[in-house]
Parts: sequence; C-alpha cells; structure tokens
Amino acid sequence: MAPIIHWFWRDLRVLDNAALHAAYSRSQTLVPVFIWDDTHLGWPHMGPAVRTFLSGSLAALEKNLQLLGHRLIIRQGNPEVELVRLARECGASAVLTNRDYEPATVAREQRVAEALAADGRRLESFKDLVIWESREVLTGTGNPYTIYTPYARARRARARQAPCPKLGAAKSAMPDGLTSVPLSSLTPTAPAAAAHYPPAGEHAALESLKTFLASGVFRYDVGRDFPAVEGGTSQLSPHFRVGTLGIRTALTRLETARAGGGAQGENGCRIWENELIWRDFYMQVLANFPHVAGSCFRPEYDQIQWSGTKEHFAAWCAGRTGYPIVDAAMRCLNATGFMHNRLRMIVAMFLTKDLMISWQQGERYFFEHLLDGDLAANSGGWQWSAGTGTDAAPYFRIFNPASQGAKFDPEGAFIRRWIPELRDVPADLIQCPGDNPLLLSRTRYPSPIVDHAVQRGKCLAMFKAVRQ
Ligand SMILES: Cc1cc2nc3c(=O)[nH]c(=O)nc-3n(C[C@H](O)[C@H](O)[C@H](O)COP(=O)(O)OP(=O)(O)OC[C@H]3O[C@@H](n4cnc5c(N)ncnc54)[C@H](O)[C@@H]3O)c2cc1C
Repeated sequence: MAPIIHWFWRDLRVLDNAALHAAYSRSQTLVPVFIWDDTHLGWPHMGPAVRTFLSGSLAALEKNLQLLGHRLIIRQGNPEVELVRLARECGASAVLTNRDYEPATVAREQRVAEALAADGRRLESFKDLVIWESREVLTGTGNPYTIYTPYARARRARARQAPCPKLGAAKSAMPDGLTSVPLSSLTPTAPAAAAHYPPAGEHAALESLKTFLASGVFRYDVGRDFPAVEGGTSQLSPHFRVGTLGIRTALTRLETARAGGGAQGENGCRIWENELIWRDFYMQVLANFPHVAGSCFRPEYDQIQWSGTKEHFAAWCAGRTGYPIVDAAMRCLNATGFMHNRLRMIVAMFLTKDLMISWQQGERYFFEHLLDGDLAANSGGWQWSAGTGTDAAPYFRIFNPASQGAKFDPEGAFIRRWIPELRDVPADLIQCPGDNPLLLSRTRYPSPIVDHAVQRGKCLAMFKAVRQ
C-alpha cells in the first residue's frame, strides 16, 4: 500500500486532527510533513510573534510524533514544488491536509492540487479548523450570515462534532532517505516579548484548557471583561491560531465541564461557547467575503479620508497617548504579545475614532505583535471597532477611553501594572491624569495627545462625509 503524506499547516497536533487521522487510517505508512513556506509565513498570514510560537509548536509536534514512532519531515520552499518532490521520493499517491480559509492559502491549495494532479497524484483536504464551513450555515435565502446573533442561533441548532481519535503508533517504517531540514536552522529571530510567551505545543494547550475548564469558565460571564482579573479569559488563542488545540476538542471538553458545573456555571460556559462561535463566524466572513482581507466590508467606507498623523500613530504604538487604559494595553501588547479582548476594542476604537487613523494600520501593528494574530479574527475585530465591518458597532458608537477604564479597570490595577509612572496615583484620578496638571508634572506621564470630546465630533463628521 502506497504511503500517504499528511501536510501540516494550522493543525500542529496529534489529537483530534481530521486529515492526519484519515491519512493514518488509510495507509500502513504515514509521512508527516511541514513545509516552511516563507511566502505564507509573512504578512498578511503570519507575524513574527506567531512565527516564533509556531516554531516552538513545531518542535513539540516533532517530539510527540517521535513518541509514537513517526518522524516529522520539514522541508523549506514552495509547497507546489516540495510536496510533489516528497511524494515522488516516498512513492505517495496522495497528500492529505486540513483546509485554511485565507484567500491566498485557498489559492495555494489549488495550485498544490494542480501540481500533484499533473504528477498523477492527488491532494485531499479536510474540514478541521472550524466546526462549520462557509457554505454550511446559510440564511433562509441561501446567503452567508453577516450578523453574528442569527448566525450563532443557527449554529447552535446543528449537531455537535466529536473529536477525531489521537494518532496511533507508526505501523511501518517510513521509506529510507527522506531528508528533513533541522528546525533549528529555521528558527526565526524571536521578538523581545518572546520571554513572556506561554509554553508552546499540544501538551501545554491541553493543560491550559484543563485549568480554564476546571474553574475560570464558570466565572467567565463576570470576569471576562476585566483585564486585571487573573484567568478571566482562557488565553488559548495562540494555541487555536497554530492548531495545537482543536476546536472540536475545546467544545467537547467544554460540554463535559458544563455538565459538571451546575446551574451557577452555566452562564459562563454558554458565553465562552459564544466566543468560539465568533471565531468560526469571522472565518466564514473571510471565506465568503475575501475582500475583508485589507478592505472595508462595506465598500463605501473605503472612501474615508483618515486624517491622523504619523506622530499620533507612533504615540499609540508606544503607549504614550496620555490615555492610561490605552497606553497600559499597548505596553502590555508590546511586552508580552498578548492583549485582552476588552482592551483590543478600546485601543482599536481609540486609534480609528479618536486619532482617525485607518483600521488597516492598527490591524498591521496588531498582526506584527500578537501571538494569536489571525487574518480573519483581526480584520473582523478591527472592522467591528472601526464601524466598517459586518455586524459592526455603528460608526456613531465611540468609546470614551476614560469611562471604559473606570468601568473595566475600576481600581486601576491593570494600569498600574503597565504604567509605572502612575503607580502611586489613586484610583479616582488614574483614568484621567491629564485633568490634573500638578499630578502630570509629578509623574512624567504624557498629557493627552488629543481631546476626546473634540475628536469625537471630528470623527462623526468624517464618517458622515462618506455616508452622504
Ligand atoms: C481589534 C481586535 C483584533 C483582534 N485580533 C485577533 C486576532 O488577531 N486573533 C484572534 O484570535 N483574536 C483576535 N481578536 C479577538 C479576541 O480579542 C481574542 O480572540 C481574545 O482576546 C483571545 O483571548 P482568549 O484566548 O483569552 O479568549 P477567550 O475569551 O477565552 O475566548 C476563547 C476563544 O474564542 C475565540 N474568540 C474570542 N473572541 C473572539 C472574537 N471576537 N473573534 C474571533 N475569535 C474570538 C478565540 O479563539 C479565543 O481564544 C481581536 C479582537 C479585536 C477587538
């Protein structure tokens, strides 16, 4: 029986992996491969933070496979060329992989399928990254959903999907002579923040999931909006990003936790499930409306004349805007590669509505720094905040950063953690130090670079201009 190649991409795990499971079941000889494809390991697919996390996750995958008697082959180059070459070398008739939904990755898959077909072989792709794909959940009129709530309702009505079994031990040895590029030679230069990245790999992902489902999830409804609360959210997004955690596993284990969590924990479990549905929602938006990769979902907003300045953008990036909740969030992102969801909304709205800088610039900055940087969720989140996307906050809803800070970091604990200049400022003054010149002169913290009330008016005018 001919060997079968499994081509890893966003699925760096041996448990609950649809294509890997199929490849293993169908052949005596499995050839697992990861292609280090420089084109798809850069903008807009993968930023430096994700690339570093991916590299650690690959090392963990290599070990996990080894424990089962398999060997991970790593090749560098163009997958159309490398997969054909490897298939010839090992005599494989098929390459199996899990589908990704980014427009350029879809096109890549098509090119690989054609190259393999021209060589008398086939590419087979599987649903694995999401529970339901872009054309599986449609409105009554057969169109994709563009509003989250009815999409989630339709989704919940569908049957659940059980995880695939863990990869079994190697049944027979891989053909001799298959070369592999050592991972150490591909390891990208790690960003300074890498010292704060969580442990990579499937084992770490499952441990984090276990910890969160043992307690955090039951309080998720009350804790998830407060960045200072330890364990208020799962922080599993980097694992979902590189596929060291599968979505079916997460949902199935959530159901088990939910069954044992009683009525008190029910709300938290339900809301966490909603977040996982948001993930699929934005993936189907990207698949059905690929123009959201770079452009506004609502084309009229592509006409907006964003009037922000380079200096303001630099202040936002560095966490020196004079708005403490914004600055604390940005400094946290720069230092750790992670930012809490509530803070992402606050800083994104501040950049687009107060500084009037395009969401694409913010999206790019996030992408470069976030450990979970993902085209679908990032474009979705930025366009939601800017008011240009599907299901977006309407353009006239503009967060007041100080009020958001007072509501979601009432004691200023998160702000103090990231802005040492404000460590000694009491809670009632910490959200608006700019109102108190004496305080500012004592702290060396910058005064606000813009006046929120003034900018709000300008922003509304900017949006109205394109709506007319
Ligand atoms: C401006 C902006 C940009 C964002 N960029 C990204 C991004 O590049 N990558 C990314 O994974 N998420 C992004 N998000 C969504 C969200 O902020 C993160 O998924 C979340 O903060 C990750 O933390 P967590 O794992 O603790 O999430 P939890 O609250 O524990 O949620 C569990 C999981 O659900 C998914 N999820 C939660 N919220 C969302 C959402 N709004 N959209 C899509 N999936 C969601 C994530 O996979 C997450 O790990 C963005 C949100 C905004 C407002």
